Amino acid sequence: MQNKRGLLLVVSGPSGAGKGTVCKRLVEKRSDVFLSISATTRAPRAGEVDGKHYYFISEEEFTERIRTGGMLEHAVFCGNYYGTPKRAVDDMLAAGKNVVLEIEVQGAMKVRSHYPEGVYIFVLPPSMQELRKRLTERGTETPEVVEERLSTAAWEFTHIQKYNYILLNDDVEKAVCRLEAIIDAEHCRTERNLKFIEEVCQS
Ligand code: 5GP
Repeated sequence: MQNKRGLLLVVSGPSGAGKGTVCKRLVEKRSDVFLSISATTRAPRAGEVDGKHYYFISEEEFTERIRTGGMLEHAVFCGNYYGTPKRAVDDMLAAGKNVVLEIEVQGAMKVRSHYPEGVYIFVLPPSMQELRKRLTERGTETPEVVEERLSTAAWEFTHIQKYNYILLNDDVEKAVCRLEAIIDAEHCRTERNLKFIEEVCQS
């Protein structure tokens, strides 16, 4: 069988670009995709469930997990810690799942230094006006936090060239189809299939 090991897909992009919606829809569509659940010290928003959207933990617990090597990466974003629990990612990749990390730029760059073979995807909103509109209409953040997230977005854009792909999120279904195309094409890369090629040649 072609390339049995799963892909590590790192999806970044400004807050409000719709990364979460696109990744959630992808997981609903494809059973070969596992969405990593991050840990954070941020307070849950209305409707967010511990263990489903995030593991909501204290700062003490977070720093302890870093100390004991339990985090694949972590970063501080707008005053809160966010991190990827390492174990689940390793297990799922070994089980052949495509693992999606929906994380911000600093964390993504740390992952890239350990996993250069990962696939790095930056989600783009159709415009900055639309980004502001989405963040404001979401109504989950105060106006100050919206402004902070918009200025962080401007900084995040300066790192876009370190990503392999841009994913325009003008329409969620279209964006998910593009993401699926990226996954399928990445599985076909020659360097990911050397063993399979050898098997075919010897059959
Ligand atoms: P939010 O507070 O809106 O849920 O997330 C804020 C930012 O943190 C988003 O850009 C999100 O992708 C990012 N984020 C979520 N989980 C992680 C993580 O485990 N590590 C890092 N570095 N960023 C994360």
